[in-house]
Amino acid sequence: MPEPGTPVSDCPAGPSGLTLSPRAQALQPSLTLAIAAKAKQLRAEGRDICSLSAGEPDFDTPAFIRQAAATALEAGHTRYGPAAGEPALREAIAAKLSTENGVPTRAEQVLVTNGGKQALYNLFQVLLGQGDEVLLPAPYWLSYPEIARLAGASVTVLPTEAAQGFRLQPEQLEAAITPASKLLVLNSPSNPTGMVLSRQELEAIAAVLRRHPQVAVVCDEIYEFLLAPGHSHHSFAAVAPDLADRVFVVNGCAKGWAMTGWRIGWLAGAPAVIAAASALQSQTTSNVCSFAQYGALAAVSGPRDCVQAMAAQFNERRTLLSEGLRAIPGLQLLPPEGAFYAFPDVSSYGLDSMTLCNRLLDAVGLAVVPGVAFGDDRCIRLSCAAAPATISDGLERLQRFLGSL
Ligand code: GLU
Repeated sequence: MPEPGTPVSDCPAGPSGLTLSPRAQALQPSLTLAIAAKAKQLRAEGRDICSLSAGEPDFDTPAFIRQAAATALEAGHTRYGPAAGEPALREAIAAKLSTENGVPTRAEQVLVTNGGKQALYNLFQVLLGQGDEVLLPAPYWLSYPEIARLAGASVTVLPTEAAQGFRLQPEQLEAAITPASKLLVLNSPSNPTGMVLSRQELEAIAAVLRRHPQVAVVCDEIYEFLLAPGHSHHSFAAVAPDLADRVFVVNGCAKGWAMTGWRIGWLAGAPAVIAAASALQSQTTSNVCSFAQYGALAAVSGPRDCVQAMAAQFNERRTLLSEGLRAIPGLQLLPPEGAFYAFPDVSSYGLDSMTLCNRLLDAVGLAVVPGVAFGDDRCIRLSCAAAPATISDGLERLQRFLGSL
């Protein structure tokens, strides 16, 4: 495994005479996945490791979902299916978007993908090319810029500050848009900051975009159910229905239903774009695992009690993590409003985020993710998708390490 942060171009060469494509050489492997894997490996080697790295619910997938997939498997749903997804699941996702999110959607506007990442990848591949710019508010989830560059696009980062609640300012967006701007990325609730955009803030963004018809929007709503008390999730296409034909929704089962390993995501939007993304999928990965789609069908069309029960536990854990972090001297935290991360500013300790995270792992066995990977080197990201005892352990290790500096 490459060390976290090692570009593919620095990885050991393959068989002699083979060179990697420029595309592969420029690629950064996912640091969140690499750090989580490294934590597991160190633990397997006998090290005492506390991991607050990857954002992965520690709950089991609810039983009725597992049962639906098992039943589908036994019933013989083991063969190729339509590349765009099982018709019943596309219908259920369209119904969910229409009723739960207020975004009227037909099944033909839905593509079932191998997790949210493939939804983003397919969309970026069919929308973007050389010369196109992606507008990316920072801090951002680390896979967006890599997926944009894989499509040949350039990335324009729009930095946001904790003092402004990590919120994209409409005038900042207006100033960043050029004739080459093609796609704005919105992620609310946000990974890594936990920022949740209000209806009014989405309306202000919509007002800017109405002046720039060349700019489409992708809304990553994967954390939609994970909201601190007092915050609500709003789908951009529901707030600005007049823009709906250039708004794309990315979502999936991983975070809300504790289904990370199932790899069920979806992309929804304009039928012509969905058809192109489906064609791409048909030539690359074909259908998502057939029986897993039946588990997802049970999840999406089922009651939300299990989702709300897990969300309530994440609320307690988010509070535990936030309060613990705010009690550490020299560390600044804007309390997260959703998702399951905290993104404190640790710059007062005088180390860059990668150095600090490496030393944290070496000195006290705490695995967290450096903010530089999310576009802000002042911060580190801690996940509260872990048992309360693990969060408390992580806080104690962090405090002990920072106290030793
Ligand atoms: N999205 C989660 C995270 O940021 C899972 C890992 C990944 O796909 O990056 O930790």
